[in-house]
Amino acid sequence: MNAPARIDLHTHSTVSDGTDTPRALVRAALAAGLDVVALTDHDTWAGLDEAAEEAERIGVGFLPGAEVSCERLGRSVHLLAYGGDRTHPGLVAELVRIRAGRTDRIPEMLRRLGRLGMPLTEDQVAVHARDTPSIGRPHVADAMVAAGYVASRDEAFAGYLAEGGSAYVERYSPDIADAVGLVRAAGAVPVLAHPWGRGSRDVLPPHVLEALVEQGLAGWEADHVDHTEAERAELHVLAERLGVLATGSSDYHGTGKTRNPLGVHTTDPSTYAELRRLVER
Ligand code: AMP
Ligand code: ZN
Ligand code: FE
Ligand code: FE
Repeated sequence: MNAPARIDLHTHSTVSDGTDTPRALVRAALAAGLDVVALTDHDTWAGLDEAAEEAERIGVGFLPGAEVSCERLGRSVHLLAYGGDRTHPGLVAELVRIRAGRTDRIPEMLRRLGRLGMPLTEDQVAVHARDTPSIGRPHVADAMVAAGYVASRDEAFAGYLAEGGSAYVERYSPDIADAVGLVRAAGAVPVLAHPWGRGSRDVLPPHVLEALVEQGLAGWEADHVDHTEAERAELHVLAERLGVLATGSSDYHGTGKTRNPLGVHTTDPSTYAELRRLVER
């Protein structure tokens, strides 16, 4: 009998804040023994064509996606969107607006770091952001590491860049319920990323997850490194009770996040089959 398929539905490339190009990411997925990988860069679909082409060429299953930056009650939450119409005017416009917010906050972040005694120029950040359309705090963190201010991305976040940190600057993101509606309108399948990671259970408690399901949410990641074992179990039970998907994924960022190797968590093949059915509908 064949081993069950290994399916990883949440990864990042250099098109956002990962460190593998889309092509390299797909190759890494094959090397890691995955049968299916989804590329879900932050707020952009720019890597999907390259990744899909390479996946086809080397024989890895591929699911196109994006991780949409959202908020609830002023706190950042992330929504995975699988498949859908990548020319949908409303969703395209929303992603443009979110990415503009990413770019626009960089100068203020650098001013704050300067005041904290860690001067950096936009050019120093650009070395790490390269040509990404979706610049993020990890690129600033990489510039801080290169300048010798901190030892790692994690240290940059823990000391300065995490939500509420001394160099943190807010940016535009849509309300999660509105985003679920918009993703659905574009024919894509909305799945919450790490709903209870990094303390976000406060803003996404079970009754809010239930309300979002009523608004079209198709499920959430249960198995994710930012969830405890108890949280994973509870998210599986809740998904089962509500009849929605509970996925498992790595949230791989290449060398940018060491706790998230490809396939560290995977999605059950029957759950993936249901997701595919929703994507293709
Ligand atoms: P941004 O896209 O600018 O909002 O930055 C968020 C991204 O930074 C996340 O998707 C993660 O890749 C990374 N990140 C967030 N929090 C941390 C943290 N505490 N340590 C390391 N990386 C983080
Ligand atoms: Zn990221
Ligand atoms: Fe995320
Ligand atoms: Fe992610």
